[in-house]
Amino acid sequence: MRKIVFATNNPHKLDEIRKIAGTNIEILSLADINCHDDIPETADTLEGNALIKARHIKEKYGYDCFADDTGLEITALGNEPGVYSARYAGSDCNPQRNMEKVLDKMSGINNREAAFRTVIALIIGDETHLFEGSIKGYIITEKRGDAGFGYDPIFQPEGYTKTFAELGDTEKNKISHRAIATGKLLQFLKNVF
Ligand code: IMP
Repeated sequence: MRKIVFATNNPHKLDEIRKIAGTNIEILSLADINCHDDIPETADTLEGNALIKARHIKEKYGYDCFADDTGLEITALGNEPGVYSARYAGSDCNPQRNMEKVLDKMSGINNREAAFRTVIALIIGDETHLFEGSIKGYIITEKRGDAGFGYDPIFQPEGYTKTFAELGDTEKNKISHRAIATGKLLQFLKNVF
């Protein structure tokens, strides 16, 4: 069975991808390869940060590897928070403060268009590949829903009347940015392995 590292410490992401990966690919976590490095995400693009993480593992540990990075891109804010989504509200940020900062900045703005975008960087042998998934939607004016994480309570996907946080994980995972990018990655790996 071919082994590949997913450069993440997020157990939910690992679980999710292992369930859909099938049986001929073994997906290892960072802990599985004894990597406890704090890999700095210093790029100013999602692509850049995904590549930093995947290259770090390939170069230091020798494994084929993929890594992801996701951002919420709001048109009226010049695609902010984008690559800074996790830490938008600054040093004492958390999901609530990040959402409040978005809602404050969007106050009085009519163009509510936004998109979540995930980029996955794959380094396999001496090749590098990028896979992208995105979903368009709108920033609503007040939080709605309890499921999910991050900005889910303020993001309503196009064509839906519920936010990601109201749709719940099962529905969200059928249409999400991450699901689209992951689907492209797995399709590619199935053809290679
Ligand atoms: P990561 O690259 O997956 O760690 O995502 C970076 C940040 O983007 C997270 O800390 C969240 O704030 C936000 N984010 C990523 N994916 C989602 C999502 O599916 N829903 C809501 N927020 C998300």
